[in-house]
Amino acid sequence: RAKEGGRSRFDFYTEDLTHSARHRVETERRLRDALAEGQLVAHYQPQVEIATGRVIGVEALVRWRDPEHGLIPPGEFIPLAEETGLIGALGEWVLHEACRQGVLWMEIGIAPLVVAVNLSGYQLRQGDIVESVARVLRQTGFPAERLELELTESALMEREGDTAGVLDRLRAHGIRMAVDDFGTGYSSFAYLRRFRLDVLKIDKRFIDEIDQQQDARTIVDAIIAMGHALGLQVLAEGVETQSQLDILRDQGCDLFQGYLKSRPLDADAVTALLRNDAG
Ligand code: C2E
Ligand code: MG
Ligand code: MG
Ligand code: MG
Repeated sequence: RAKEGGRSRFDFYTEDLTHSARHRVETERRLRDALAEGQLVAHYQPQVEIATGRVIGVEALVRWRDPEHGLIPPGEFIPLAEETGLIGALGEWVLHEACRQGVLWMEIGIAPLVVAVNLSGYQLRQGDIVESVARVLRQTGFPAERLELELTESALMEREGDTAGVLDRLRAHGIRMAVDDFGTGYSSFAYLRRFRLDVLKIDKRFIDEIDQQQDARTIVDAIIAMGHALGLQVLAEGVETQSQLDILRDQGCDLFQGYLKSRPLDADAVTALLRNDAG
């Protein structure tokens, strides 16, 4: 019987592992350099008040502008940043950049009320997150009341006990807290009561189906009612069509984000959009 090139499956397997390990190390190095060399950029997506159509906030979403590979979306490097601990420095960079930009918008008098920044669970567990956020606010002069921090359900559930304390300390500074991707994680309604939050962001996957599926509509209806009963503002993520927005308006949803209004844009494009919106 002929040998397959003299190599067993096992050789291929180890070779694959070696390759992917090498790729990881290489990507980690490139990401570290990107952070140091200013290759990260913040884009911003408008948050719209449904009743008035006004842009009342923006969410900062990080991108990696790689000289070789172009604009890389966060889904391709945030997980690696979390695994390697780089997320601490990366997260602080995004926060600083978003607050700095927020101050610029205030200075030219077209400021959105709120700048929202995503925090990963890893950052929450770093211990010094409250000090680090307070430091960025001090350094940039951005008002705490205009900063909103987004945490996913799973990040909130990872270490329940401490999390409530950290959220309370952040809120004591005047910072607003949002739960991101609601409905995709543990969906334990109990924590909505335990953690004091300000905004509930309904995940896009429900919004995708509200104009087609009655059960998706029912779920969104229930989430909005529950959010309001708990005193939270409710935001729908990933709204792409007018018919989705019409349903959300009927349902009494407060805010939306989505391509229907705008994709995430660089700061200059958002400045133009805010100018247009105001005038
Ligand atoms: P997210 O915080 O839930 O952000 C919403 C994502 O949905 C963004 O993807 C946004 O571009 C996309 N999106 C918004 N509206 C629409 C729409 O109408 N249609 C479609 N198809 N997509 C829409 P993006 O920018 O790729 O970010 C993905 C995720 O990466 C974010 O989800 C967030 O979890 C994470 N992320 C982004 N920036 C940061 C950051 O600075 N720190 C951390 N820890 N995570 C971040
Ligand atoms: Mg978010
Ligand atoms: Mg989300
Ligand atoms: Mg998401």
